[in-house]
Amino acid sequence: MKANPDLRETMIETVRRMVTLGLNRGRSGNLSAREGDRFLITPSGLDPDAMAPSDLVAMDFEGGVKGNREPSSEWRFHRDILATRPDVDVVLHAHPIFATALACLHRPIPAFHYMVAVAGGPSIRCAPYATFGSQELSDHAVAALEGRRACLLANHGLIALGKTPAQALDLAVEVEALSEQYAQALQIGEPALLSDAEMEIVLEKFRTYGAGKA
Ligand code: 13P
Ligand code: ZN
Repeated sequence: MKANPDLRETMIETVRRMVTLGLNRGRSGNLSAREGDRFLITPSGLDPDAMAPSDLVAMDFEGGVKGNREPSSEWRFHRDILATRPDVDVVLHAHPIFATALACLHRPIPAFHYMVAVAGGPSIRCAPYATFGSQELSDHAVAALEGRRACLLANHGLIALGKTPAQALDLAVEVEALSEQYAQALQIGEPALLSDAEMEIVLEKFRTYGAGKA
């Protein structure tokens, strides 16, 4: 498989944007993108500002590694999501403040706002806690993402999926905004939730108008 220099550049730009947008700080978070029959993933423990396209690690779906760096410690969930989700080409992971705060309460995001449907369903699930980098965390993440393009990870952060790095980034920003709105509403009282029927109308509108496509 030939390397795709444009994809590598876009991935580096995206992990830097994750920091400037406030989704990540320091070395938290990671990004992967499908490239033919393998995928590229950010290296472990490297500050995005210090990251060059050549630092990205190429991996196959058996866990084989090609690159000068160690792959992200979360390569298992990146691999398993890309392997089980042909509708998705990019996996983004971040620790933004409000989504992580909800995840620390093991609180999924219910249908408190119609935009919750942007993640593909009537709620955004929170995967149970498991140690970072573990196969158990990957299994929980794959299950929480069933029929969805985003989920929270208990006591950890979020995952957002897309066809492109820009799409996954936009979705992560939206999930963080929803998390902030939900957390604010919870300060005042118990938010009124939209019914499944109302959410189905929104999901259908998103399908028709393309706003919710992965
Ligand atoms: P890596 O630097 O190994 O990608 O780990 C960051 C992280 O967020 C672990 O969950
Ligand atoms: Zn993490």
